[in-house]
Amino acid sequence: MSIPAIKGMNDILPGEIETWQFLEATARQVFGTYGFAEIRTPAVEKTELFCRSIGETTDIVEKEMYTFDDKSDNSLTLRPEGTAPVMRSFIQNKLYNLDPVSKLYYMGPMFRYERPQKGRYRQFHQIGAEVLGVEDPKIDAQVLAMLHQYFCQIGIEAVSLQVNSLGCPECRPAYRQQLIEYLEQRLDKLCADCQRRYQSNPLRVLDCKAAGCKEATVDAPSMLEHLCGACDEHFNTVKKHLTALAIPFEVNARMVRGLDYYVRTTFEMVTDQLGSQNAVAAGGRYDGLVQSLGGPALPGIGFAIGVERLVLMKGADKIAPTVPQLFIAALGDEAADQAFVLMTKLQRAGIQAEMEYQGKSLKAQMRRANKLKANYTLILGEEELKSGQAQLKNMVDSSQSPVVLDRLAETLMDKFAAEKG
Ligand code: ATP
Ligand code: MG
Repeated sequence: MSIPAIKGMNDILPGEIETWQFLEATARQVFGTYGFAEIRTPAVEKTELFCRSIGETTDIVEKEMYTFDDKSDNSLTLRPEGTAPVMRSFIQNKLYNLDPVSKLYYMGPMFRYERPQKGRYRQFHQIGAEVLGVEDPKIDAQVLAMLHQYFCQIGIEAVSLQVNSLGCPECRPAYRQQLIEYLEQRLDKLCADCQRRYQSNPLRVLDCKAAGCKEATVDAPSMLEHLCGACDEHFNTVKKHLTALAIPFEVNARMVRGLDYYVRTTFEMVTDQLGSQNAVAAGGRYDGLVQSLGGPALPGIGFAIGVERLVLMKGADKIAPTVPQLFIAALGDEAADQAFVLMTKLQRAGIQAEMEYQGKSLKAQMRRANKLKANYTLILGEEELKSGQAQLKNMVDSSQSPVVLDRLAETLMDKFAAEKG
Protein backbone atom coordinates (compact mmCIF):
# COMPACT_ATOMS: atom_id res chain seq x y z
CA MET A 1 0.00 0.00 0.00
CA SER A 2 1.37 3.41 -0.90
CA ILE A 3 1.72 6.11 1.73
CA PRO A 4 0.05 9.45 0.95
CA ALA A 5 1.15 12.90 2.17
CA ILE A 6 -0.47 14.53 5.20
CA LYS A 7 -3.83 16.18 4.52
CA GLY A 8 -3.41 19.88 3.75
CA MET A 9 0.31 19.50 3.01
CA ASN A 10 1.17 19.59 -0.65
CA ASP A 11 3.99 18.57 -2.91
CA ILE A 12 5.16 21.26 -5.27
CA LEU A 13 5.94 19.49 -8.49
CA PRO A 14 7.97 20.30 -11.59
CA GLY A 15 5.69 22.29 -13.86
CA GLU A 16 4.49 24.30 -10.88
CA ILE A 17 7.82 24.86 -9.12
CA GLU A 18 8.94 27.26 -11.86
CA THR A 19 6.26 29.72 -10.74
CA TRP A 20 7.46 29.35 -7.13
CA GLN A 21 11.05 29.95 -8.16
CA PHE A 22 10.01 33.03 -10.07
CA LEU A 23 8.05 34.39 -7.09
CA GLU A 24 10.99 33.70 -4.78
CA ALA A 25 13.64 35.09 -7.12
CA THR A 26 11.62 38.27 -7.66
CA ALA A 27 11.27 38.71 -3.89
CA ARG A 28 15.04 38.34 -3.43
CA GLN A 29 15.65 40.86 -6.17
CA VAL A 30 13.07 43.46 -5.09
CA PHE A 31 13.74 43.14 -1.35
CA GLY A 32 17.48 43.28 -2.00
CA THR A 33 17.03 46.59 -3.77
CA TYR A 34 15.38 47.97 -0.63
CA GLY A 35 18.32 46.83 1.49
CA PHE A 36 16.80 43.70 3.04
CA ALA A 37 18.95 40.67 3.89
CA GLU A 38 17.64 37.13 4.14
CA ILE A 39 17.39 35.35 7.47
CA ARG A 40 16.58 31.64 7.94
CA THR A 41 15.31 30.34 11.24
CA PRO A 42 14.39 26.78 12.25
CA ALA A 43 10.95 25.39 11.42
CA VAL A 44 10.43 24.50 15.08
CA GLU A 45 10.57 26.78 18.13
CA LYS A 46 9.66 26.61 21.80
CA THR A 47 5.87 26.78 22.10
CA GLU A 48 6.20 29.65 24.56
CA LEU A 49 7.60 31.93 21.84
CA PHE A 50 4.35 31.84 19.89
CA CYS A 51 2.04 31.98 22.92
CA ARG A 52 3.78 35.08 24.20
CA SER A 53 4.00 36.94 20.91
CA ILE A 54 0.93 35.98 18.87
CA GLY A 55 -1.32 35.97 21.95
CA GLU A 56 -3.20 33.29 23.89
CA THR A 57 -6.64 34.29 22.64
CA THR A 58 -5.87 34.34 18.94
CA ASP A 59 -7.09 31.69 16.49
CA ILE A 60 -3.53 30.62 15.82
CA VAL A 61 -2.64 29.89 19.44
CA GLU A 62 -6.10 28.68 20.47
CA LYS A 63 -6.60 26.13 17.75
CA GLU A 64 -4.16 26.15 14.87
CA MET A 65 -0.73 25.24 16.24
CA TYR A 66 1.10 21.97 15.69
CA THR A 67 2.39 21.54 19.23
CA PHE A 68 4.10 18.44 20.57
CA ASP A 69 6.47 17.30 23.29
CA ASP A 70 9.87 16.11 22.16
CA LYS A 71 11.59 13.14 23.80
CA SER A 72 12.88 15.38 26.60
CA ASP A 73 9.37 16.70 27.29
CA ASN A 74 10.02 20.17 25.87
CA SER A 75 6.90 21.66 24.34
CA LEU A 76 7.77 22.54 20.74
CA THR A 77 5.68 24.05 17.95
CA LEU A 78 6.02 24.03 14.18
CA ARG A 79 6.18 27.72 13.36
CA PRO A 80 2.74 29.06 12.40
CA GLU A 81 4.23 32.36 11.21
CA GLY A 82 7.61 33.96 10.65
CA THR A 83 7.73 37.16 12.69
CA ALA A 84 8.13 35.66 16.16
CA PRO A 85 11.05 33.38 15.11
CA VAL A 86 12.77 36.30 13.38
CA MET A 87 12.38 38.42 16.53
CA ARG A 88 13.72 35.55 18.64
CA SER A 89 16.77 35.31 16.41
CA PHE A 90 17.21 39.08 16.23
CA ILE A 91 17.32 39.26 20.03
CA GLN A 92 19.41 36.12 20.55
CA ASN A 93 22.03 37.16 17.99
CA LYS A 94 21.95 40.82 19.06
CA LEU A 95 21.50 41.90 15.45
CA TYR A 96 20.62 45.37 16.77
CA ASN A 97 24.32 45.87 17.48
CA LEU A 98 25.18 45.71 13.78
CA ASP A 99 23.14 48.72 12.72
CA PRO A 100 20.35 50.78 14.28
CA VAL A 101 18.09 49.68 11.41
CA SER A 102 17.67 45.99 10.61
CA LYS A 103 15.90 44.97 7.43
CA LEU A 104 15.31 41.24 7.19
CA TYR A 105 13.32 38.96 4.92
CA TYR A 106 12.51 35.28 5.05
CA MET A 107 10.72 32.66 3.02
CA GLY A 108 9.65 29.18 3.93
CA PRO A 109 6.95 26.82 5.15
CA MET A 110 4.57 27.66 8.01
CA PHE A 111 2.19 25.26 9.72
CA ARG A 112 -1.36 25.77 10.92
CA TYR A 113 -3.95 23.16 11.73
CA GLU A 114 -6.82 24.64 9.70
CA ARG A 115 -9.55 23.16 7.52
CA PRO A 116 -7.83 22.63 4.17
CA GLN A 117 -9.52 24.29 1.20
CA LYS A 118 -8.51 26.33 -1.82
CA GLY A 119 -5.89 28.83 -0.66
CA ARG A 120 -5.83 27.42 2.88
CA TYR A 121 -3.48 24.60 3.80
CA ARG A 122 -1.83 23.07 6.84
CA GLN A 123 1.64 23.54 5.47
CA PHE A 124 1.79 26.75 3.50
CA HIS A 125 4.56 29.16 2.54
CA GLN A 126 5.18 32.76 3.36
CA ILE A 127 7.57 35.34 2.03
CA GLY A 128 7.92 37.99 4.67
CA ALA A 129 9.93 41.06 5.58
CA GLU A 130 10.60 42.92 8.81
CA VAL A 131 12.17 46.29 9.63
CA LEU A 132 13.40 46.84 13.16
CA GLY A 133 14.56 50.03 14.80
CA VAL A 134 12.55 52.78 13.09
CA GLU A 135 9.37 54.41 14.32
CA ASP A 136 9.25 56.99 11.52
CA PRO A 137 6.13 56.61 9.33
CA LYS A 138 8.45 56.75 6.31
CA ILE A 139 9.35 53.16 7.09
CA ASP A 140 5.68 52.13 7.08
CA ALA A 141 5.38 53.73 3.66
CA GLN A 142 8.61 52.18 2.45
CA VAL A 143 7.53 48.69 3.46
CA LEU A 144 4.27 49.23 1.61
CA ALA A 145 6.12 50.64 -1.40
CA MET A 146 8.23 47.49 -1.49
CA LEU A 147 5.17 45.26 -1.22
CA HIS A 148 3.46 47.25 -3.96
CA GLN A 149 6.48 46.99 -6.23
CA TYR A 150 6.71 43.26 -5.59
CA PHE A 151 3.14 42.74 -6.77
CA CYS A 152 3.78 44.87 -9.84
CA GLN A 153 6.89 42.90 -10.70
CA ILE A 154 5.29 39.47 -10.34
CA GLY A 155 2.48 40.68 -12.58
CA ILE A 156 -0.38 40.35 -10.11
CA GLU A 157 -2.61 43.38 -10.51
CA ALA A 158 -5.94 42.24 -9.12
CA VAL A 159 -5.09 43.26 -5.58
CA SER A 160 -5.83 46.29 -3.49
CA LEU A 161 -4.00 47.61 -0.51
CA GLN A 162 -6.08 48.27 2.59
CA VAL A 163 -4.63 50.13 5.53
CA ASN A 164 -5.80 50.84 9.05
CA SER A 165 -4.45 51.88 12.41
CA LEU A 166 -5.00 49.80 15.51
CA GLY A 167 -3.77 52.48 17.90
CA CYS A 168 -1.34 51.78 20.70
CA PRO A 169 -1.36 50.78 24.39
CA GLU A 170 -2.25 54.44 25.12
CA CYS A 171 -5.46 54.66 23.13
CA ARG A 172 -6.55 51.11 22.39
CA PRO A 173 -7.72 50.06 25.88
CA ALA A 174 -10.40 52.78 26.04
CA TYR A 175 -11.60 51.91 22.55
CA ARG A 176 -11.55 48.22 23.39
CA GLN A 177 -13.76 48.85 26.43
CA GLN A 178 -16.21 50.82 24.31
CA LEU A 179 -16.30 48.04 21.76
CA ILE A 180 -16.98 45.44 24.45
CA GLU A 181 -19.91 47.51 25.70
CA TYR A 182 -21.21 47.86 22.14
CA LEU A 183 -20.93 44.12 21.55
CA GLU A 184 -22.59 43.30 24.85
CA GLN A 185 -25.80 44.88 23.57
CA ARG A 186 -25.82 42.62 20.51
CA LEU A 187 -24.57 39.37 21.99
CA ASP A 188 -27.55 37.33 20.80
CA LYS A 189 -26.76 38.21 17.19
CA LEU A 190 -23.12 37.08 17.36
CA CYS A 191 -21.82 33.62 16.45
CA ALA A 192 -20.82 31.21 19.22
CA ASP A 193 -17.11 31.96 18.68
CA CYS A 194 -17.65 35.69 19.05
CA GLN A 195 -19.93 35.29 22.08
CA ARG A 196 -17.10 33.43 23.72
CA ARG A 197 -14.31 35.83 22.76
CA TYR A 198 -15.94 39.27 22.72
CA GLN A 199 -14.45 40.05 26.15
CA SER A 200 -11.01 38.56 25.65
CA ASN A 201 -10.54 39.69 22.05
CA PRO A 202 -13.31 42.12 21.02
CA LEU A 203 -11.47 43.34 17.90
CA ARG A 204 -11.63 39.86 16.40
CA VAL A 205 -15.42 40.17 16.25
CA LEU A 206 -15.02 42.93 13.64
CA ASP A 207 -13.03 40.48 11.52
CA CYS A 208 -15.48 37.56 11.91
CA LYS A 209 -16.61 36.08 8.61
CA ALA A 210 -20.07 35.04 9.92
CA ALA A 211 -22.85 37.03 8.22
CA GLY A 212 -24.67 37.61 11.52
CA CYS A 213 -21.59 39.12 13.14
CA LYS A 214 -20.95 41.35 10.15
CA GLU A 215 -24.52 42.59 10.18
CA ALA A 216 -24.67 43.14 13.93
CA THR A 217 -21.51 45.25 13.90
CA VAL A 218 -21.97 47.48 10.83
CA ASP A 219 -22.07 50.61 12.95
CA ALA A 220 -19.53 49.48 15.54
CA PRO A 221 -17.26 52.21 16.91
CA SER A 222 -14.03 52.45 14.94
CA MET A 223 -10.49 52.55 16.27
CA LEU A 224 -9.71 55.38 13.87
CA GLU A 225 -12.07 57.68 15.76
CA HIS A 226 -10.31 56.88 19.03
CA LEU A 227 -6.64 57.22 18.10
CA CYS A 228 -4.52 59.28 20.48
CA GLY A 229 -2.76 62.34 19.07
CA ALA A 230 0.50 60.52 18.36
CA CYS A 231 -1.19 57.56 16.62
CA ASP A 232 -3.43 59.86 14.62
CA GLU A 233 -0.44 61.82 13.41
CA HIS A 234 1.50 58.66 12.62
CA PHE A 235 -1.36 57.31 10.53
CA ASN A 236 -1.91 60.58 8.71
CA THR A 237 1.78 60.78 7.88
CA VAL A 238 1.82 57.21 6.55
CA LYS A 239 -1.08 58.13 4.26
CA LYS A 240 0.69 61.32 3.17
CA HIS A 241 3.82 59.39 2.21
CA LEU A 242 1.82 56.73 0.36
CA THR A 243 0.15 59.46 -1.65
CA ALA A 244 3.53 61.08 -2.38
CA LEU A 245 4.82 57.71 -3.64
CA ALA A 246 1.68 57.24 -5.78
CA ILE A 247 0.78 53.99 -4.06
CA PRO A 248 -2.94 53.33 -4.29
CA PHE A 249 -4.62 52.36 -0.99
CA GLU A 250 -7.94 52.35 0.80
CA VAL A 251 -8.56 52.88 4.49
CA ASN A 252 -10.45 49.94 5.96
CA ALA A 253 -11.40 50.89 9.50
CA ARG A 254 -12.73 47.38 10.20
CA MET A 255 -9.51 45.59 9.42
CA VAL A 256 -8.05 43.97 12.50
CA ARG A 257 -5.28 41.46 12.41
CA GLY A 258 -5.46 38.03 13.97
CA LEU A 259 -2.29 38.48 16.01
CA ASP A 260 -2.05 40.42 19.25
CA TYR A 261 1.28 42.08 18.66
CA TYR A 262 0.10 44.64 16.11
CA VAL A 263 -0.09 48.34 16.93
CA ARG A 264 -0.71 51.41 14.78
CA THR A 265 -0.38 50.74 11.05
CA THR A 266 -1.86 47.46 9.84
CA PHE A 267 -2.51 46.50 6.25
CA GLU A 268 -3.63 43.76 3.90
CA MET A 269 -3.36 43.11 0.20
CA VAL A 270 -6.73 41.69 -0.75
CA THR A 271 -8.16 40.19 -3.90
CA ASP A 272 -11.63 39.17 -5.00
CA GLN A 273 -10.26 36.25 -7.01
CA LEU A 274 -9.83 33.70 -4.23
CA GLY A 275 -13.25 33.49 -2.56
CA SER A 276 -13.05 33.83 1.20
CA GLN A 277 -9.26 33.39 1.18
CA ASN A 278 -9.09 37.02 0.10
CA ALA A 279 -5.89 38.16 1.82
CA VAL A 280 -2.72 37.51 -0.16
CA ALA A 281 -0.46 39.51 2.13
CA ALA A 282 -0.83 41.08 5.52
CA GLY A 283 1.18 42.88 8.11
CA GLY A 284 1.65 45.83 10.35
CA ARG A 285 3.58 47.52 13.09
CA TYR A 286 4.56 45.65 16.25
CA ASP A 287 6.40 48.25 18.31
CA GLY A 288 6.24 46.42 21.66
CA LEU A 289 7.08 42.94 20.43
CA VAL A 290 10.87 42.89 20.62
CA GLN A 291 10.81 44.17 24.18
CA SER A 292 8.07 41.78 25.25
CA LEU A 293 10.27 38.93 24.04
CA GLY A 294 13.16 40.09 26.21
CA GLY A 295 14.96 42.33 23.70
CA PRO A 296 15.59 46.08 23.65
CA ALA A 297 12.66 48.49 23.22
CA LEU A 298 12.85 48.70 19.44
CA PRO A 299 9.92 49.35 17.13
CA GLY A 300 9.20 47.02 14.23
CA ILE A 301 7.01 46.58 11.19
CA GLY A 302 6.60 43.78 8.69
CA PHE A 303 4.40 41.72 6.43
CA ALA A 304 3.94 38.19 5.19
CA ILE A 305 2.77 37.13 1.75
CA GLY A 306 0.96 33.82 1.24
CA VAL A 307 2.81 32.14 -1.61
CA GLU A 308 0.16 29.50 -2.40
CA ARG A 309 -2.36 32.29 -2.93
CA LEU A 310 0.02 34.06 -5.31
CA VAL A 311 0.48 30.83 -7.25
CA LEU A 312 -3.30 30.40 -7.48
CA MET A 313 -3.59 33.96 -8.76
CA LYS A 314 -0.88 33.40 -11.35
CA GLY A 315 -3.14 30.58 -12.62
CA ALA A 316 -2.85 30.24 -16.39
CA ASP A 317 -0.06 32.80 -16.36
CA LYS A 318 2.32 30.14 -15.03
CA ILE A 319 6.04 30.25 -15.65
CA ALA A 320 6.92 27.59 -18.24
CA PRO A 321 9.45 24.91 -17.25
CA THR A 322 12.77 24.97 -19.09
CA VAL A 323 13.16 22.54 -22.00
CA PRO A 324 16.24 20.79 -23.46
CA GLN A 325 18.11 23.07 -25.81
CA LEU A 326 19.38 20.02 -27.63
CA PHE A 327 18.23 16.41 -27.77
CA ILE A 328 20.76 13.94 -29.15
CA ALA A 329 19.30 10.87 -30.81
CA ALA A 330 21.87 8.08 -31.16
CA LEU A 331 21.75 5.00 -33.35
CA GLY A 332 23.72 2.05 -32.02
CA ASP A 333 25.86 1.48 -28.94
CA GLU A 334 28.94 3.30 -30.16
CA ALA A 335 26.96 6.36 -31.20
CA ALA A 336 25.21 6.29 -27.82
CA ASP A 337 28.60 6.36 -26.04
CA GLN A 338 29.70 9.31 -28.19
CA ALA A 339 26.36 11.05 -27.68
CA PHE A 340 26.86 10.66 -23.94
CA VAL A 341 30.27 12.38 -24.09
CA LEU A 342 28.89 15.14 -26.34
CA MET A 343 25.89 15.70 -24.09
CA THR A 344 28.08 15.99 -21.00
CA LYS A 345 30.37 18.47 -22.76
CA LEU A 346 27.35 20.61 -23.58
CA GLN A 347 26.08 20.44 -20.01
CA ARG A 348 29.51 21.50 -18.78
CA ALA A 349 29.24 24.47 -21.13
CA GLY A 350 25.89 25.42 -19.58
CA ILE A 351 23.68 24.06 -22.35
CA GLN A 352 20.67 21.98 -21.31
CA ALA A 353 21.13 18.77 -23.30
CA GLU A 354 19.30 15.45 -23.20
CA MET A 355 19.61 12.02 -24.84
CA GLU A 356 17.95 8.63 -24.92
CA TYR A 357 19.34 5.86 -22.70
CA GLN A 358 17.13 2.94 -23.62
CA GLY A 359 18.39 2.20 -27.11
CA LYS A 360 15.06 2.98 -28.75
CA SER A 361 14.34 3.36 -32.45
CA LEU A 362 15.04 6.71 -34.14
CA LYS A 363 11.30 7.30 -34.41
CA ALA A 364 10.79 6.73 -30.69
CA GLN A 365 13.72 9.01 -29.87
CA MET A 366 12.33 11.81 -32.03
CA ARG A 367 8.93 11.36 -30.40
CA ARG A 368 10.56 11.86 -27.02
CA ALA A 369 12.47 14.93 -28.27
CA ASN A 370 9.14 16.38 -29.41
CA LYS A 371 7.44 15.58 -26.16
CA LEU A 372 10.25 17.26 -24.22
CA LYS A 373 9.85 20.28 -26.54
CA ALA A 374 13.58 20.28 -27.29
CA ASN A 375 14.72 23.34 -29.28
CA TYR A 376 17.14 21.38 -31.47
CA THR A 377 17.84 17.73 -32.22
CA LEU A 378 20.92 16.05 -33.55
CA ILE A 379 21.04 12.56 -34.98
CA LEU A 380 24.22 10.61 -34.34
CA GLY A 381 24.78 7.43 -36.38
CA GLU A 382 27.72 5.57 -37.86
CA GLU A 383 27.96 8.03 -40.75
CA GLU A 384 28.13 11.07 -38.46
CA LEU A 385 30.73 9.47 -36.21
CA LYS A 386 32.94 8.79 -39.22
CA SER A 387 32.66 12.26 -40.76
CA GLY A 388 32.64 14.17 -37.48
CA GLN A 389 29.67 16.13 -38.82
CA ALA A 390 25.94 15.95 -38.22
CA GLN A 391 22.70 17.76 -39.06
CA LEU A 392 21.34 20.09 -36.44
CA LYS A 393 17.56 20.27 -36.70
CA ASN A 394 15.65 23.28 -35.51
CA MET A 395 12.46 21.78 -34.06
CA VAL A 396 10.47 24.99 -34.38
CA ASP A 397 10.86 25.58 -38.14
CA SER A 398 12.23 22.12 -39.10
CA SER A 399 15.24 23.71 -40.84
CA GLN A 400 18.49 21.75 -40.84
CA SER A 401 22.08 22.90 -40.83
CA PRO A 402 25.36 20.97 -40.78
CA VAL A 403 27.50 21.16 -37.67
CA VAL A 404 31.04 19.99 -36.88
CA LEU A 405 30.70 17.80 -33.79
CA ASP A 406 33.85 19.23 -32.22
CA ARG A 407 32.29 22.67 -32.43
CA LEU A 408 28.80 21.72 -31.29
CA ALA A 409 28.72 23.87 -28.15
CA GLU A 410 30.00 26.98 -29.94
CA THR A 411 27.61 26.50 -32.86
CA LEU A 412 24.65 26.14 -30.52
CA MET A 413 25.68 29.19 -28.51
CA ASP A 414 25.88 31.22 -31.73
CA LYS A 415 22.44 30.05 -32.75
CA PHE A 416 20.89 30.86 -29.38
CA ALA A 417 22.50 34.31 -29.45
CA ALA A 418 21.22 34.95 -32.98
CA GLU A 419 17.71 33.83 -31.99
CA LYS A 420 17.72 36.17 -29.01
CA GLY A 421 18.55 38.95 -31.47
P1 ATP B 1 -6.72 34.36 6.91
O1 ATP B 1 -7.58 35.49 7.36
O2 ATP B 1 -6.88 34.04 5.45
O3 ATP B 1 -6.79 33.17 7.81
P2 ATP B 1 -4.45 35.26 8.41
O4 ATP B 1 -4.87 36.58 8.91
O5 ATP B 1 -4.54 34.10 9.32
O6 ATP B 1 -5.22 34.92 7.03
P3 ATP B 1 -1.66 35.95 8.42
O7 ATP B 1 -1.37 35.26 9.69
O8 ATP B 1 -1.71 37.42 8.43
O9 ATP B 1 -2.99 35.36 7.79
O10 ATP B 1 -0.65 35.44 7.31
C1 ATP B 1 -0.28 36.24 6.18
C2 ATP B 1 -0.68 35.61 4.88
O11 ATP B 1 -0.36 34.22 4.85
C3 ATP B 1 -2.17 35.62 4.62
O12 ATP B 1 -2.57 36.84 4.07
C4 ATP B 1 -2.33 34.50 3.61
O13 ATP B 1 -2.00 34.94 2.31
C5 ATP B 1 -1.29 33.51 4.07
N1 ATP B 1 -1.90 32.41 4.85
C6 ATP B 1 -2.27 32.44 6.15
N2 ATP B 1 -2.76 31.24 6.53
C7 ATP B 1 -2.69 30.43 5.45
C8 ATP B 1 -3.02 29.06 5.19
N3 ATP B 1 -3.49 28.27 6.14
N4 ATP B 1 -2.81 28.57 3.94
C9 ATP B 1 -2.31 29.35 2.97
N5 ATP B 1 -1.97 30.63 3.15
C10 ATP B 1 -2.15 31.18 4.37
MG1 MG C 1 -5.95 32.58 9.62
